[in-house]
This record gives sequence, structure tokens and C-alpha cells, in this order.
Amino acid sequence: MPHDIHFSPLCNELAAKAREIADKHVRPLASKYDKLQEYNFDAARAVAAAGLFKTFIPKEYGGSGAGLLALARVTEELAKADSGFGVAFAVNALGSFPILVGGTEAQKQRWLPSVARGEKMVAFCLSEKFAGSDASGLAVRAVEDGDHWVISGEKKWTTNGGVADIYSVFCVTDPNSKSRRISAIVVEKGTPGFSVKKVENKMGIRCVPVVETHFDNVRVPKANLIGERPGMGFKHAMQTLDLARPGVAAQAVGAAQGALDLANVYANRRQQFGVPISNHQMVQKMLADMAMKTDAARWLVYAAAAGVESGSPMTSKMAAMAKCFATDVAMEVATDAVQVFGGYGFMEDYPIAKYFRDAKILQIYEGTNQIQRMVIARHLIKEVADLEHLQAYIPQETQQTYTGAAAITQTRSTASTAS
Ligand SMILES: Cc1cc2nc3c(=O)[nH]c(=O)nc-3n(C[C@H](O)[C@H](O)[C@H](O)COP(=O)(O)OP(=O)(O)OC[C@H]3O[C@@H](n4cnc5c(N)ncnc54)[C@H](O)[C@@H]3O)c2cc1C
Repeated sequence: MPHDIHFSPLCNELAAKAREIADKHVRPLASKYDKLQEYNFDAARAVAAAGLFKTFIPKEYGGSGAGLLALARVTEELAKADSGFGVAFAVNALGSFPILVGGTEAQKQRWLPSVARGEKMVAFCLSEKFAGSDASGLAVRAVEDGDHWVISGEKKWTTNGGVADIYSVFCVTDPNSKSRRISAIVVEKGTPGFSVKKVENKMGIRCVPVVETHFDNVRVPKANLIGERPGMGFKHAMQTLDLARPGVAAQAVGAAQGALDLANVYANRRQQFGVPISNHQMVQKMLADMAMKTDAARWLVYAAAAGVESGSPMTSKMAAMAKCFATDVAMEVATDAVQVFGGYGFMEDYPIAKYFRDAKILQIYEGTNQIQRMVIARHLIKEVADLEHLQAYIPQETQQTYTGAAAITQTRSTASTAS
């Protein structure tokens, strides 16, 4: 992990703007949009007006080039007020990254400036009913027909679906290829045959739509295939997830901080046994643990965002560690926050229950935390090669177990590195 985390003046400015919008447009309406399961367009407009959608877009495509660390800070501030709105914002980066990492110059110029201006929202369509953790098992098919690709099939769990204008859709373009099977293709809202079918009824993050997207012989020009040639989709998906995971981790940090802040305020107000409950040592322990974990997650996320930004060879490991640790922390902190509120924490009348409901999905999407641990462990196994000098310090009679490690390495190459 890099130790030189540098917050540029622009990064600080964007985070401050995000905090202001969160306080004014997001937190006061979080409960309303959660109950209605409706998108907070007012807040999205404020985010666009403040130039926050520019954060993750490079300057040459109309963005501010503020980068991944700034994206993490902005997402954290928005998620502190409402985790659902945090992801409603951050998923635009997730959907844009395939174009950024794999798109041609013309494609970047075509789609990204309108995203930066906040005129167009983006969605990321990878998962399907039968392809979740194993993203290599996609079935949505794109077939060449003259100057077009014709897409058919269904995507599951498209966040921002219906609200978004641009969809990065991962399709099978060569079913017979092992390594070049998948390509990413941009489908724009309104294209005939493209529709949003089932709007999911979720436990948490209810203000952001998550839908099934259906493709019924959707014809798109060949120029919509991301990149110069087909077959790069799986690589682009994995690169995208590496870039995006510090963002979902930042959403978790914001969610944890938001829950901690509420619990802290409540513990100082609520009296039992004649004193504020914050005077009781076991409540203090809960609050202290929540604060330690949240700060540990925060700095891991910042370090990962800075490391991923710098193009570190450890990118996948850092992104996975930040995602896994921060999202586990968010769930633990939200659970303890409910505990601090006692019976009131269990009531939907107060926002703390929503923090608890919102936290769970963080451990599931953008790759479950089991998958993140697999990614981390695979890196660790590879790193053994650099630790040869420690061989002398392990019991020599266990040398045989090294064959075991080799066997594990072989097994892992057959498992997918899914989303
Ligand atoms: C609210 C929501 C929003 C989402 N938004 C998007 C989106 O915008 N775009 C998109 O493409 N996808 C999205 N997803 C999909 C999300 O990324 C997947 O749900 C996730 O990757 C898990 O896939 P799955 O649900 O099919 O679970 P499965 O892959 O079926 O996993 C089920 C369980 O098995 C475990 N498991 C699976 N394989 C292994 C293994 N090899 N080793 C150990 N454990 C394993 C998992 O960790 C999990 O606990 C969203 C999902 C939800 C619920």
C-alpha cells in the first residue's frame, strides 16, 4: 500500500461540495425516497450543478480529472447521508469505466462529456440470473449483422436501470473462444428492443432502482462495441471492477460514519440509570470499536484509491482488500449502531434502521466478500515467490506441504475471477 496519500485542493473542494449537497439535498429526504423507492432527482441535479460527475472523468473528455481518491471522498460524503444515494452516484463511474479503460478515442469523446456534465446517467450490465460471481458464464448474446451487433437476452440487477441513458452491456460475441468470448457494447436508452422489466423490491438502498434489463434483438451500430475489436470484454470488466471497488468501499466508509455519528449523538442524549448511556463502559466500548474500525477502513480505502490510481501492480489486491474490509466494517458498525439505539434502533420510524438495511448489500455487490477474499488469497499465493529468503525459517520437515501450495495454485487457475 502506498503511504503518500495526497489530497489535492480540488479533491478537498469536491468533498466539501459533496458534504454540502448531502446535508441539504440528501439526508433530509433519505427516508422519503427510501419509503417511496424513488430516485432523488433533485439531489442528482445538485450533484451535476456542483460538477461532481466530472470527478471520475479525465479533463480531455470534459471532466475535472480529479481521480479515484476524489471519487472516494465524494462518494463517502454522499453515502454518509444516504448509502443508496451514494451508490446512485458511484454507479455512474462503474458504468463509465469500461469506456474509459477500453474505449477508442472517438468513443470516449462521444459518450463521456455528457456524463461529466451530468446530462446522462450510466449503468453497468454484467450480472445475469445464471452468472453472478462467475462472470465468465454470461449468456446474453451479440451477433454480427452487417454494420450492426444484434443483442438478445436478459441482464439481472442493473443499478440505475431506467434512470440511466447509457448502458455498458457485457455480451458473448464469440461463444467458441475461451479467452475472447465476451465484449462490452454500449446500448443507449430508447434503442428499439431494449427495455427495463422487473424493478426489484429491495431490503436496502431503496432510493436507487435496480432492475432487469431485457434485450430483444437490439440492433446497435458496430461503433458501439467498446474498443477496436471484439473479445476484450472480460478484461475490461475486471479492470473496471478494480477501478470501481475503492468507490464501493468509500460508500461503506460513509455509511459506517453516518451510523456512528447518529449512535454517538443518541448515546449522549439517552439516559438510563440516571446518566447518558455514553457513560456506561460497554456502550463506550461499542462506540470506540465503531470509531476505530471506521477510521481503519477509511485509510485503507484512501490508500487503495491512491494505489489503484497510480497503476500499482497490486491494484486488484488493494481494491479487493479495501472493498472487503470497509464493507464488513459498515455492516458491523451499522449493527452496533442499532444496538446503541436499543429498541428504537429496531423501529423504521428512525433513520438508524435504514443504515442497517443499506449496509448488507455492500458485502454482496461488485463482487461478494467471499470473492474479494479469493482475489486477495491468490495474490498472497503469488507473493510467496518473493519470500524465498524465508524458507530457512520454516520447519524443514514440512517442505512437502509446498506441493500442496502448488496444487492450490493449480486449482485457482480453473476458478473464475468474477465480479
Ligand atoms: C442491489 C444489487 C445491485 C446490483 N447492481 C449490479 C449492477 O449494477 N451491475 C451488475 O452487473 N451487477 C449488479 N449486481 C449483481 C451483484 O454483483 C451480484 O449479486 C454478486 O456479484 C453476486 O452474484 P449472485 O447474486 O449471483 O450470487 P452467487 O454468485 O450465486 O453467490 C451466492 C453465494 O455463493 C458464494 N460464492 C459463489 N462462488 C463462490 C466461490 N467460488 N467461492 C466462495 N463462495 C462463492 C457468494 O459469495 C455468495 O455468498 C447487483 C446486485 C444487487 C443485489
